[in-house]
Amino acid sequence: MSRVIYNMHLQQIIDHTTNVRELVLTIQEPQSFQFKAGQFAMLHVPQPEGKPALRAYSIATDDRNLKGFSLLFKYVDNGKASEFVWSLKGGETLQFTGPFGKVFFQEPPTEQIIFLNTGTGLSQHLSYLQSKKDQYPHLKYRMLFGVRTEKDMYYQDHLNKLKSQLQDFNWEYVLSRPQESWTGKKGYVQNFIEEYDYLKIPTTFYLCGNGGMIKEVKHTLTAQNFDPQKIWVEAFD
Ligand SMILES: Cc1cc2nc3c(=O)[nH]c(=O)nc-3n(C[C@H](O)[C@H](O)[C@H](O)COP(=O)(O)OP(=O)(O)OC[C@H]3O[C@@H](n4cnc5c(N)ncnc54)[C@H](O)[C@@H]3O)c2cc1C
Repeated sequence: MSRVIYNMHLQQIIDHTTNVRELVLTIQEPQSFQFKAGQFAMLHVPQPEGKPALRAYSIATDDRNLKGFSLLFKYVDNGKASEFVWSLKGGETLQFTGPFGKVFFQEPPTEQIIFLNTGTGLSQHLSYLQSKKDQYPHLKYRMLFGVRTEKDMYYQDHLNKLKSQLQDFNWEYVLSRPQESWTGKKGYVQNFIEEYDYLKIPTTFYLCGNGGMIKEVKHTLTAQNFDPQKIWVEAFD
């Protein structure tokens, strides 16, 4: 059986930084796109000759919306999908297959949920938070969001809005190369996880983005005998 191709209308382009672009997409054909928070869609990148190149992007929005979704793209030099996405003007029709992936929000949830992400790895965690916030408003949510410099920070307003809608959601940036004046966390997200009481409070970790970060966090947690079944990961590279 051939896979369904979803034609999505590019409703809006939002440039959050010089190298993070959000595409807001609405369904054209067929009538709806159904997915579960944590899943990704495969963008068909047109090629001058032959078949399209396929690239995976984690859906960044609420899974209760069947009429469309948003994706967050990080620009990769000379990347096939990156060059294509940064050539778009809005109004185009893009083709996708999906949804794919099995990194779902684990239910029933644990008391504490820790999201660790880097760059556009925020996307998967945004989808969990938006999709589950009404069902589980009382959990202890924590997030460390790793980017390089102040210029790479994005989505502050959105995350602060989510914080205002949840009873106990705290998030912080971790900057690997901040300016001298930066008073927040400096280094890598993996350097700060021990601030959370995850060995005492029932906790689930969700890690998304840079493969090096994911590897290091898993290594630290398993060395502390943390249950590997409570660590859910999606590596982008
Ligand atoms: C399950 C899954 C979900 C993903 N979700 C997202 C997402 O939500 N947002 C997102 O931006 N990306 C995501 N990715 C990564 C994405 O699929 C592409 O790999 C990425 O956008 C690069 O594609 P490209 O065609 O532009 O570059 P390519 O043409 O594939 O690569 C060009 C060059 O860049 C290098 N490269 C590839 N990826 C990266 C990278 N991430 N960082 C640095 N160098 C790289 C390659 O080694 C190559 O040398 C996801 C990957 C997976 C497996």
